[in-house]
Amino acid sequence: MRSIAIINQKGGVGKTTTAVNLSAALADRGLRVGLIDMDPQAHASLHLGLAPEPDRQTVYDLLTSDVKLKDIWQEAGANLSVASSHIDLAAAEVELAGVVGRELILRDKLADTCEEFDYVLIDCPPSLGILTINALSAVDDVFLPLQPHFLALHGLSKLLQTINLVAQRLNDRLRLAGVLFCLFDSGTRLAAEVSADVEAFFQDARSKPGIWQEVHLFETRIRRNIRLAEAPSFGQSIFKYSPQSAGAADYLALADEMLALSAGQRSTLLNLQRAA
Ligand code: ADP
Ligand code: MG
Repeated sequence: MRSIAIINQKGGVGKTTTAVNLSAALADRGLRVGLIDMDPQAHASLHLGLAPEPDRQTVYDLLTSDVKLKDIWQEAGANLSVASSHIDLAAAEVELAGVVGRELILRDKLADTCEEFDYVLIDCPPSLGILTINALSAVDDVFLPLQPHFLALHGLSKLLQTINLVAQRLNDRLRLAGVLFCLFDSGTRLAAEVSADVEAFFQDARSKPGIWQEVHLFETRIRRNIRLAEAPSFGQSIFKYSPQSAGAADYLALADEMLALSAGQRSTLLNLQRAA
């Protein structure tokens, strides 16, 4: 199982849209996918048509009680399960304040579920609090969605610092694996300029010690596409809502780029092991 947290402390950059539609694209490719909604706003759960029900246990119960992940998975389509969120999760920060090991709750609960899934994706809230730290402590990889905005790089060093601290203190497997442009207006000068800046930023970061040495800038860019903005209100992934849209094409291309990349990494690793 490979686990990926989708993180950016800014809101509105495409985290949830990516978490939902990348999960759905991987499921469409026949992989077994679990999506954990760590945002109290529950947008990922709602996007997949999972409205809150009074007696249903959610990620809130997962973090604050003995509930296990297997108790809260809900089916959201073939090969796709969701651990849904609830607005109560907003209180978890305060409720967990005195709990020893509060950063590692999700890691321990995720360890039980390894066999069931090929991929687990985590949609994170727009903050760097205990929910995001739980996600970072639990996963192998971080994906960072960026909007090509003139402030795209603003706040990035704080985010990278946080990821690095978690890698040093709580999770030595953690690496920044991918940077993805979302809401991309191709053909505009702004998008071209910002993507050049971001490439230069990570080129520089790669030369420094840290968890970003292998960071991959996805060639696939998620174009701004109205169908992607409409799909959540129908409670459907882009593949159900508008399979012929540019949004569906972009998220399938992203899944395929990601799968090709990890197949490439696996064979490099095997070759290195053989050579050794
Ligand atoms: P975040 O989770 O980072 O806050 P969202 O994924 O919720 O960001 O996206 C913010 C808003 O932009 C949402 O209304 C979403 O539907 C819309 N959106 C996201 N990606 C696209 C896109 N590629 N094209 C058009 N609208 C998008
Ligand atoms: Mg979101």
